[in-house]
Amino acid sequence: MYWNQDLETIDRPALERLQLSRLRAALERSVRAPFYRTFFETHRVDIDTITTLEHLRDLPFTTKADLRTSYPDGMMAVPRRDVVRLHASSGTTGKSTVIFYTQKDISEWADLIARSMVATGATPDDVFQNMMGYGLFTGGLGLHYGAERLGCLVIPSSSGNSLKQLQLMQDFQATIMHITPSYALHLVEIIKENGVDPHDLTVKKAYLGAEPYTEATRKKLEELWGMDAYNSYGLSEMNGPGVSFECVHKNGMHVWEDFYIIEIIDPDTGAVLPDGAEGELVLTHVNREAMPMFRYRTRDLTRIIPEPCPCGRTHRRIERIKGRTDDMFIIGGVNIFPSQIEAVLMAIPEVGNNYQIVLERDGSLDKVHVKVELYSKMFHGDMKELQTLRKKITEIVRSTIIVNPVIELMEPGSLPPSQGKAVRVIDNREQR
Ligand code: AMP
Ligand code: ZN
Repeated sequence: MYWNQDLETIDRPALERLQLSRLRAALERSVRAPFYRTFFETHRVDIDTITTLEHLRDLPFTTKADLRTSYPDGMMAVPRRDVVRLHASSGTTGKSTVIFYTQKDISEWADLIARSMVATGATPDDVFQNMMGYGLFTGGLGLHYGAERLGCLVIPSSSGNSLKQLQLMQDFQATIMHITPSYALHLVEIIKENGVDPHDLTVKKAYLGAEPYTEATRKKLEELWGMDAYNSYGLSEMNGPGVSFECVHKNGMHVWEDFYIIEIIDPDTGAVLPDGAEGELVLTHVNREAMPMFRYRTRDLTRIIPEPCPCGRTHRRIERIKGRTDDMFIIGGVNIFPSQIEAVLMAIPEVGNNYQIVLERDGSLDKVHVKVELYSKMFHGDMKELQTLRKKITEIVRSTIIVNPVIELMEPGSLPPSQGKAVRVIDNREQR
């Protein structure tokens, strides 16, 4: 089933023609924004020379820093009266950044979400419970408009308030939920504590995104909830969710290439890498009116899956995001991504639903503490059992990250629960 079969199964040459004509129009529109006039001038780029898709590489990258310097509205490429909405990035580091949308931008965004949802098998019969934060964050309103466009009954429950979530889910028989993986891990425990078996609920699908998580976490959540979980990727700079979504095959996320041009670069040199190589995702939005964005460095690490997908969609897929270049930490000269630790933890049956990585400096040595919540039944046995388990986890984590971790076993609920994006790493080392 497709939302727009012609566009979703478009052949490569036609898709590239469409990308190029949209890119050209976006470039021409962009110079109405003060930021881009200066940007192209400083980098000595004549946009009239960008006449093929390959020429895109002649444009410099844009980064979060450009969004900050152009704050509040230096990148706005239409008159203010044509802008109908703004959103802001979660801004975990520094000042938040703002994105603008015209009525057409909002409508096309909703269309991409509807397209994504249909790719997972959603229909107007579905009841969609949206547990992402409503407000400046794009996860709430973004999916909301898309699910309405598809014709679902939307429950705009927003994040948090777990008992209310359960009640809404039961009373209105929600079939799809949109939730961060970390909140899904927390909520399922609350549901069980309230004497409800999550498998008895009507929820059959979840859209999980907004933060990195591993395949092991997806599997764990699918088992705990008794549902299919689909990976959803997006970032506010590119509208929000709806950039890339898994189809029913749950094997990599289709990037909607009629709206986004994908490149993968070497994060150190900026060189464009061939399809299939792992690197930093760079995205160009070719169709936004209010705020064009070219070659934006997402900091997210992934690779393009060049093989065709059995669903028939011709838009290429990207692999699950491995992490952000700025999430990586270095301990004793070893580069470590939180996802490496999460992947092994979540595959250990005794491990519960929350963990946290704390980096400490001990003299001149850096140490990785991993705080791991266990299922409560683990604390009813004897100490020896716990000690054996601690040893086992230490060994599994050590063999993955090649650094000796300090593992701390905790009772369920000891770590701060996540209601949105989880904070997985706390770095207590003083700045070097
Ligand atoms: P924001 O702009 O605040 O919505 O944050 C966007 C960022 O969230 C992305 O650049 C990614 O780092 C992260 N993110 C969103 N969706 C996913 C996903 N499905 N997997 C991994 N990371 C994600
Ligand atoms: Zn597919």
